[in-house]
This record gives sequence, structure tokens and C-alpha cells, in this order.
Amino acid sequence: MDKHKILHLTHKMAKYVCFFVSGIIVTTFLICVAIKCLRLIKANSEKSSKQASEMLVHEYELISKYLFEGACSELKQFSRNRTLLSLKTKQEKQKWFVDHIADRPDFFHNIIYSDLNGDAIAANNVEFNIADRTYFKQIVYEGRKDAIGGPVDSRATGEKVVVVAQGMYNLDGTLNGVVCATVKLSTLVGLTEKLQIKNEGRFFIIGDEGKFVCHYDENYLGKDYQPNNSKYADFGSVFFSRVRRGVFNTISSEGREISVYLEPIERTDWTCGITVDKQNLLHTYTQLRHGVVSVIFVTIILILFLTGISAIFVNRTNLWESYFDPLTNLWTRPKFEKEAQLMLEKFNGSRFAVMEIDFRGFKFINQSFGNKDADKVLTICADTLLARCKRTGAICGRGYADHFYAMGKIETVMDFMTDLEDAVNEMENELAVLDLPVYPKYGITFVLPEKQFYNDQKTIRDLIGEASYAKGTIKENLLLRYAVFSRAMEEAIEREQRIERHMEKALDRGEFYVMYQPKIGLHDDRIKGAEALVRWNSSNPKLGNLSPGDFVPVFERNGFIVKLDFEVYEMVFKFLRAQIDAGNPVVPISVNMSRNHSNPDRFVKEFVRRFSKYDIPPELIEIEILERAATEGDSYNLIRVTEKLHQHGFTVAMDDFGSGQSSLNMLNEVPIDVLKFDQNFLRRDESKQSHQKMITTLIDLGKQLNKRTLFEGVETVEQRDMLKNLDCDQVQGYFYSKPLFEKDFVDFVKGHI
Ligand code: C2E
Ligand code: CA
Ligand code: CA
Repeated sequence: MDKHKILHLTHKMAKYVCFFVSGIIVTTFLICVAIKCLRLIKANSEKSSKQASEMLVHEYELISKYLFEGACSELKQFSRNRTLLSLKTKQEKQKWFVDHIADRPDFFHNIIYSDLNGDAIAANNVEFNIADRTYFKQIVYEGRKDAIGGPVDSRATGEKVVVVAQGMYNLDGTLNGVVCATVKLSTLVGLTEKLQIKNEGRFFIIGDEGKFVCHYDENYLGKDYQPNNSKYADFGSVFFSRVRRGVFNTISSEGREISVYLEPIERTDWTCGITVDKQNLLHTYTQLRHGVVSVIFVTIILILFLTGISAIFVNRTNLWESYFDPLTNLWTRPKFEKEAQLMLEKFNGSRFAVMEIDFRGFKFINQSFGNKDADKVLTICADTLLARCKRTGAICGRGYADHFYAMGKIETVMDFMTDLEDAVNEMENELAVLDLPVYPKYGITFVLPEKQFYNDQKTIRDLIGEASYAKGTIKENLLLRYAVFSRAMEEAIEREQRIERHMEKALDRGEFYVMYQPKIGLHDDRIKGAEALVRWNSSNPKLGNLSPGDFVPVFERNGFIVKLDFEVYEMVFKFLRAQIDAGNPVVPISVNMSRNHSNPDRFVKEFVRRFSKYDIPPELIEIEILERAATEGDSYNLIRVTEKLHQHGFTVAMDDFGSGQSSLNMLNEVPIDVLKFDQNFLRRDESKQSHQKMITTLIDLGKQLNKRTLFEGVETVEQRDMLKNLDCDQVQGYFYSKPLFEKDFVDFVKGHI
């Protein structure tokens, strides 16, 4: 997968992840809000339910108290009866009870009289002793006027009863005895059942020793309740009868979680209470929760649905962007390729022309004039191209940066070329309005069924590759505006591929070697040094003997030049070492450093590591560096590499000075020792005065800056004489010598030292 596709996919993935994450964030937020609401509702409902229950239990307590007080006042007609009081013996009193039993209220089961010893006699004529009963003790010993007790098994009837007791007082206020009335538990339950308030909470009364005198479950009447659960084991009726007040969580006999609200019944030792089923309590809350959960669920589904829709929509936009370039509205390169391929297949057997266009130094336009102007260049180019394509039935698109593509059916190559001339002029005119230094370059290739070379079944990619290669051959020549892909170019491509296939093996087999071209001092015509120039004598017959022009550009593109440079340095060091050892005269040798060495520290470290193995004086080595685009970072790199090389005693020369986009500023900043002027200065029309003036200025500049001046490519005696007159220090060129094999160079040195 290519880098672009990976980038695109990553981009797409990132968008989906963004959607997904924002969906999750919104959902989480909603859930949090809902949980908060539910908690509030729950707390509120719990609070209000608690308040209601406390009120309820209080009402029950009041009612129970009134019940007790009612029973007491009924009992008063007996305890305060003067006749009864005046009777002397127990038997007389008992007779009186029997006579008056019918006067008792319905709910009194039995009436009992007891003397102060607890010897009691009941209306049903049974005699027993109640001295051990709590209510008896409370009246006789604790001085209470009335008391309530139970549940107990009646000693008179054997039934489960509660007892209401009241003191009977003589006229002088002394206690005469105790009058009691029993109420059957079943009667009591019947009474309290009528009291059920609003059907809420289940009512009970706990009597002595935690036994229920009243309970909504008959089975518990007269008994106590012990929860059958270890967690709530302590929270039974015995415990409640002791604490008497408060709210406690426990478990019911049916195993349901309940809250028990207790309140002591005034003027008694009894406790009344209600149980509230927690499940019931939370019923409203649960219903509410169901509602909220449903709303959240629906919202989440909605969010997911919307997220999906948005993702699809974004994808659609992506789809649009993958077809149409947002800046120019032309097709993108993939879309162009697709359409062009379809066209090739549909009109198979027709003639086609395929074209790639870009601009010289577009990066420079971007940097110097800004993105806005650069964008204008692109939109004007796109509009002009599209208009022409529409007229001719061709198709076009835009690729990366300033790259445009077009393809159309053609009648003849001749017709096309005439048309092209017109198109190129039209484009130039349209762009002229911008008043910017924009120069489009066109690379063209053909599909011609009748011609062998243009006939091969090629895909649109192959064809764009050919057009692009043709365009690449235009280089910096301003006069050339377009180039057509040729057989020679195809061979060059094949050759490049062959070079790449063989380079590694060639290095292992020692197929690279070095030639030396002398540098001559102009004031004495003696040799002052030499430049090491690499050659490749390939064992592959199709490659043969290659000069750097054939392979260095390829190695610069694929990075192999870095490896080769160090091999060359090592060959030079070895040569110098051998010459010194042989006692031959030696001159400084300069070596080339390619642009690919991006890290100055690493380069110098490796250079010195290899150099130091040979024990050669560093003055014998000069490094030729190339000027680069005068951006800050690069000039910094040049400064750093030069300074580091100086630290080790090497000389540094600026190679091909004046060929690139050098700035004079950089010359001032980078502390190089030698200025090697570009050969092209000598290739221009030498007869022109302005040309001579320029060379004069260049040499003067070098002298002013205290640099050694050297001209390359000196081929004629006139050139040599002119430079000599201008006081140029050294020259290198065919006039004195071509690059020489090692052996010949050694002889040359001997003859010119
Ligand atoms: P350069 O560094 O500018 O080397 C000078 C080139 O000019 C050499 O070409 C040399 O043979 C040629 N030359 C010298 N005098 C004359 C002359 O009077 N007339 C003409 N027409 N040409 C002359 P060569 O050896 O073909 O090298 C071409 C380029 O390849 C070099 O240009 C340099 O950039 C590169 N190169 C050569 N050897 C190496 C190397 O070991 N490492 C690196 N990185 N590049 C190298
Ligand atoms: Ca050089
Ligand atoms: Ca040079």
C-alpha cells in the first residue's frame, strides 16, 4: 500500500474514531445526568416515604394509647364502685362481680379482683394468684394507677389475653386491691383491624418480652419474631421491645426487606410499629427508573443512528474530495487515471496524447510570493486547461502540488503538436496577468497503434510515467517548454533501472575507481592539486564504462551515493598513502561530498574515522561541498560541516559556485577556503564584454573575501589567458589535462611539481 493510501485510511479512521468518541461522550454525559436525576428522585422518595411512615406510626401510637385509656376508663366503673369497695371479703367481692359481669363492655373477656397479696378471684369464679404479674407489681409496688400487661395465658380461662389493670383505692386513698380486665388477643386484633389507616404500612403492637399483642399475621399473636437471616438476626421483636423507638431495616417472615418504624405507646411498656415493604416503597422509583432507562436507551440508539448518518455523510464528502480537487475543481489524479484508463480501453486502437504539466521552481513561488499567489497560478492553469479540454474532448486532472494531467484522442502527431504550440501560448497569456515568474513545463507521450514504440499495451500509469520522465529532461533550460517521450528516454529509463540493479554488486566487486584531474596554478603553471573523480567500469556489457553523469544522479535519487562517496574517499586516502610510502611527490587531492549527507556531525565523524587509519597530513585533503537552496537550515548545515572539517585541518571548497540559487549572504556566512566557479561561466559567449566583466567581478569577490579562486572547465588558451590576466589563482580543465588514471596522474605530478 502506498504512503498516500495509508495516510488517507488513517485520516478516515481518525474521523470515524472522532465520531465514535463524541457519540460515547454524549451518551456518557446523558447517562450521568440520568443517574443523578434518579438518585435525587430516589433520595426524595425515600425521604418523603420516611416522613409519611413516621407520621403513620405516630398516629397508630395515639390510637393505641386511646384504646388503652378507653379500656382504663371502662374499668373505672368497677374500681371506683363504692359498694364493691365496702365489701369485706374476697368472696363478697367475687359475688358482686358475678352479679355485675353483664355491665362490662363487650371487649372485656373477664373481670378479676385481686387483694394486695395477689390472691385473685375472677368473675367466672376461678381463684388464682397474680402477685408475679408485672402489671400487678407496677400498681402495688411502683404506685402506678393503671397498667397494661400481656400477652399472657389467662389463669382464669387459659386463653391468650392482655390485661388492663387499675388500682382500687379506699376512701382514705390507700390501696385496697387491683381490678383487672382481660381482653382476648383476637378481640384486640379485631379492634385494631378497624384502625387500619389508608391501607399503608402493616400495624403491630409488641407487648411484654417482645411478644406481639397485635400483629397483621395472626400466627405471631402472643409470640415473638426472630428473623431467619444472619444479617438481620438482631432485629427481632425482642430487640424492638427494648429500643422502642426508631427506624430499623430487617427482613420479614416472608423474606422481604422491610423497614420497621417504632414508637413507644405512652403510659405503657408496649411499643407500636408499622412495617413498610421496601419493594413497595421503591415502586414509584422503579417505575420512574424504567421510564428514564427507556428514554436513555432511545437516546443512545438515536445518537448512534445520527453518528452513523454523519459518518456516511462525511464519507460522502470524502468521496467527493477523492474525485474532485477542492482548489481547482478538476478531477483528482486517481479519478483522472480511472477515466483515462476507461477511455483507453473504450477507444482501443485510436491515437492518444498524454501530458503532464508542472511549473519551474513552484516551491520558490510559494515561498517568495505566498500561498495565495501560488494558488492563483494553479486555478488559472486549471481553468485554461479545462476550457481547452472541453473544446477538444480531452480530459484533465490535478495531482500532487503543481502537477496537472491531460489526455485526449488525436488525429495525427503533427496536428497535436500544432495544437500544443497554441495551447502553450494560451496558457502563457492567461498566466501573464499575474505578473509572476511562472514557467510551465510540458511532458508528452503518445499512444500510436501504427508505431512499434508507441504501440505497446501501456496503462495510464505507464503513460503518465513516460510524460513525467520527458518533462524531467527539460531541467532548467528556459528555452525548452515541452519534451516528448522518445525511445532514447525509454532506453535511459531501462539504463537507470539496470544501474540500480547492479550498483551494490559493483561496489563489492571493486568496479568503481578514481581518476585524478590536476589543478594548475596560473602564475607558475605548476600543479597545485587534483580533483578525485569517480568512474564505474561495469562488468555488465550493457553498462560498460560509465562516467558519473550516468550514475551519480541515479545514486543521488536512491541514496546509494552516500555509500559510494566514502568508498571513493577511502580509495583516495589509500592512493595518497601509497604515494607517500613510495617517496613520490604528492599534491592535495579534493574529493566530492554529495548533497545527500544530511547530518554534518555524522558525516565528519565517519570521514575522520576512515581518514585517521592512513596517517596522512590533513592539508592533503580538500572537500568540495555543493551550494544548496539558500534556506536557513541548509546554510546552517554548510557552516557546521565546514567548521567541523576545519577543526580537523581539512580545506573546504565551494563546488560549482554560481550554478544554483546561491546567495551572496551565504558566501559570507560559510567559512569556505576555495571558490570553484561553475563551468557554465566559461561556456557563455566569451567575446561579450559583459561576460568578461562578470568573471572579473567573481574573481574580485573571491579575493575580497580572502578565498582561493579556481575556474573549472578551462579548455582553450584564450580562457586560460583571460583568467591569468584577471589574477585567478588556479584552473582545472581539459586545456591542462583531462582526468587521469592513477599511473598517468603520478607521472603528471612528477612532471609539473
Ligand atoms: P564536478 O565535481 O563539477 O566535476 C568536474 C567535472 O567537470 C568532471 O566531470 C570533469 O571531468 C569535468 N571537467 C573537467 N574539466 C573539464 C573541461 O575542460 N571541459 C568539460 N566539458 N568538462 C570538464 P565528471 O568526472 O564527469 O564528473 C561529473 C560530476 O559527477 C562531478 O562534477 C561531480 O558532481 C560528480 N562526481 C564525480 N565524482 C564524484 C564523486 O566521487 N562523488 C560525488 N559525490 N560526485 C562525483
Ligand atoms: Ca567537484
Ligand atoms: Ca565542479
